Amino acid sequence: MNITIALAGNPNSGKTTLFNALTGSNQYVGNWPGVTVERKEAKFEIEDDLATLVDLPGVYSLSPYSIEENITRHFIAQHQPDVVLNIVDATNLERNLYLTLQLMELERPVVVALNLMDELQRRGETIDCARLSKELGAPVVPISAKKKQGFDQLFQAVYDQAHNPTPSQPARAYEPSTRDAVREIVEALGGFTAHSAFDVDEHFTHRDENERDDDHNARASHRHIGGYDDEGDLDYAPPTTWVALKLLEGDELLKESAQLSDAQRARIRKSVSDYVARGQASHPGIDSLTLVVDARYRRIDQVLKAAGFHRREREISTSDKIDRIVTHRYLAFPIFLAVMGLMFAITFGSIGTFLTGLTESLVGWIGDLAGAGLAAASAPEWVTSLVLDGVIAGVGGVLVFLPQILLIFLFMSVLEDSGYMSRAAFITDRLLRKFGLSGRSFIPMLMGFGCTTTAIVAARGVENERDRRMTILLTPFMSCGARLPVYGLFTAAFFPGNKALVVLSLYALGMLMMIVCGLILRKTAFREGDSPFLMELPPYRLPHLKSVLRRLWDRAKDFLTRAGTLIFAMSVLIWFMQSFSPTLQWVTDSAQSIFGRLGTFIAPVFAPLGFGQWEKGVALLSGMVAKEAVVSTLQVLYAVGSASELTTAIAAHFTPLSAYSFLVFILLYTPCVAALAAARRELHSAKYFVMSICIQLGTAYLISMLVYQIGSLFIH
Ligand code: GDP
Ligand code: MG
Repeated sequence: MNITIALAGNPNSGKTTLFNALTGSNQYVGNWPGVTVERKEAKFEIEDDLATLVDLPGVYSLSPYSIEENITRHFIAQHQPDVVLNIVDATNLERNLYLTLQLMELERPVVVALNLMDELQRRGETIDCARLSKELGAPVVPISAKKKQGFDQLFQAVYDQAHNPTPSQPARAYEPSTRDAVREIVEALGGFTAHSAFDVDEHFTHRDENERDDDHNARASHRHIGGYDDEGDLDYAPPTTWVALKLLEGDELLKESAQLSDAQRARIRKSVSDYVARGQASHPGIDSLTLVVDARYRRIDQVLKAAGFHRREREISTSDKIDRIVTHRYLAFPIFLAVMGLMFAITFGSIGTFLTGLTESLVGWIGDLAGAGLAAASAPEWVTSLVLDGVIAGVGGVLVFLPQILLIFLFMSVLEDSGYMSRAAFITDRLLRKFGLSGRSFIPMLMGFGCTTTAIVAARGVENERDRRMTILLTPFMSCGARLPVYGLFTAAFFPGNKALVVLSLYALGMLMMIVCGLILRKTAFREGDSPFLMELPPYRLPHLKSVLRRLWDRAKDFLTRAGTLIFAMSVLIWFMQSFSPTLQWVTDSAQSIFGRLGTFIAPVFAPLGFGQWEKGVALLSGMVAKEAVVSTLQVLYAVGSASELTTAIAAHFTPLSAYSFLVFILLYTPCVAALAAARRELHSAKYFVMSICIQLGTAYLISMLVYQIGSLFIH
């Protein structure tokens, strides 16, 4: 028999350790379809069975609000693995069993691997696994993944569950009010045939059509994983009790996908509101989700008591003590700002600048070396230009971001691993929610003031897909560091007395547009998928050096791959457009180049904005490669040498009003190619990528035009 085993558990419960111990090096690693969450799979033998072990992402719960949780519940509900192997941290039973109950609610056969037993013994605690198993309604096997103990019994339990499955319905043992509500909803669901009416896959994540195709292909290639019939269609029916529980919780995903009649909806609404009313009798203001969560925890209490597990009276943990200060009503924000300040001071301050300088020198050195080499080989002018001005300038210009990206990620890794990031998100959630974002978006948004590219990549930390996409769309409005040289040049030319004020007004305008667009998006494209902020604050831990370094390396590899492929291609293209005429003649005067012609062509578009001359159009085009490039492009096109000459030239070619309108455009239009490439990658969707470009160009055009046209009414 071929059996599929899904490995599920809390983060840090020892999932990876167990997976590696069970499967050795015989692993298949890929991604879950449509998302960047790693998917690992391995095959091994249990007696006469061929077992496929699928590693699910570490989760605390099965709510629909994060990619990881969606993957886990989707996989179990839809692919129906023969056995769900739930690894549980025995030193943290209460929290881990919360997931166990939710896994059992899906009514697949569960085997609980009670891990870290060695640690428990070291502490001098014991658990009666037989009693725990009886109370819980699923086999419980004590193991130590690290010491490879208990595996034989674990295999036996998995084998037994696979061949003689005993799934259970834990909700039957929840306290009476919840049990009754669930029963009522089950009745209301009545003839509900989940098989036809319900497809989790449709609502798995908000993805667009082409991705669903990819997904379908990915699925087709994974057909051996069970749950599919020959056509690759899903033969799938989620347990009705589970659906009822989820509807009681107010699970958006299920509410959307379950096609219910109006009468059913009304009955269910009534059951839910009765349930809430009963709960509110003793807990004013409580909602149904909290009540269900509470019902599970009460059940866990019962199970643990019945299994004779007495928690030692815990004195307040160090973690709690830290939290008293860190999430303190008045201290939370100042501490948070200090942490952020430190992160920025190091990344974008002297240390970051120093490392960037080193990389710049390295790139410069490589350029000199290549230049010398090419000269020695007396390469043709265009080859030299391609290598130096195209490839090395382009790829090198992006590579210099690497140290700062790594520094930021070092901080983020440490903050994340230590548990502080959850607190930061918690602290800022209230504020950001008003603009359609969530606490998790805060860090990426803040990083946007440094570097948009880094910020977009950092948006990975935002678990909810909708929030993540909104963050990626809105982050470019935060004025990045590369725009400062342009601000500097123009303020020197026109507003020497009010430099700081003008620059500040641009930063403020960017934030304002972020808020306005956020509010609009929330009412339009991102209406759905609102996620309440449900996050357990994990205990503080010392970060693991190995895992931090591992992630840094992954990040660096990612970034370098991109620099070597997309950025490389882009750089060559831009170089080509700057160096050749439309008839493919090599030109030295950029006015004759494709770029120059393109500039002339697009210039009229910018006339209503006050800068309809071709040089300015070209400067904006090169600004799409890198914002600083606007300055160097104008320098080349106005054929001036020194900075002061450039200032004079700017003063001659712009008016104060058109200069400000130009700056507004620079602030709001599409970020650099590196950021665009990051956005394309991180959005996982061509549709949203195009949408983000349209939003940026549209906003920039509209606001610049408003500035110029309204300004013109007054300045005459
Ligand atoms: P994951 O996040 O669930 O994949 O957890 P890992 O497998 O990365 O394990 C988290 C930490 O727990 C690591 O430091 C492991 O070495 C440790 N660990 C895992 N299993 C055991 C165990 O049975 N006993 C002890 N003492 N430590 C363990
Ligand atoms: Mg792991």
